Amino acid sequence: MYYFLYDDHNSRNEAIYNENETKKEICENCGGIQTSVKGIYNFTIKGELCDCYDVASDFVISEKFLNVLRENSYTGFEVSETSPVKSANMPIDEKYYLLNVTGRCGLLRKIDGELFPYCRKCHRKIGSTGLVTTGVTFAESEYDGSDIFAFNLNSASAKL
Ligand SMILES: [Zn+2]
Repeated sequence: MYYFLYDDHNSRNEAIYNENETKKEICENCGGIQTSVKGIYNFTIKGELCDCYDVASDFVISEKFLNVLRENSYTGFEVSETSPVKSANMPIDEKYYLLNVTGRCGLLRKIDGELFPYCRKCHRKIGSTGLVTTGVTFAESEYDGSDIFAFNLNSASAKL
């Protein structure tokens, strides 16, 4: 059984992307832009401290969350440093890390196994997938066996 990491939060408790130095790669085939942050990731936490944030499609996790992943020997991810600030300039005792999912399960497929439209060069999905209403799957043969993984053609896959 597999689970999607799903955003279900109180909107008062959220994290907001701050200005970061980025590197952009543009696919010459489809024009898709892949952006990655260079250096330490900056963001702002509003409200109560939570263990997992989706910050503009980047996943940020608390040190407590990271410890659970490490203590249970989860595979399929790397982390890098962040530099969070709190909106009211309150100090933040908790450390947070940018979660980079490295596990892969191949290309995103419809529930019947057929591929969604995607760019043949960068594997970015093209158009809406109807994820919630129709369901998705992947080919077991393309799954690398990692505990945490993402589709190859998910637009956030390089940093998710
Ligand atoms: Zn492309």
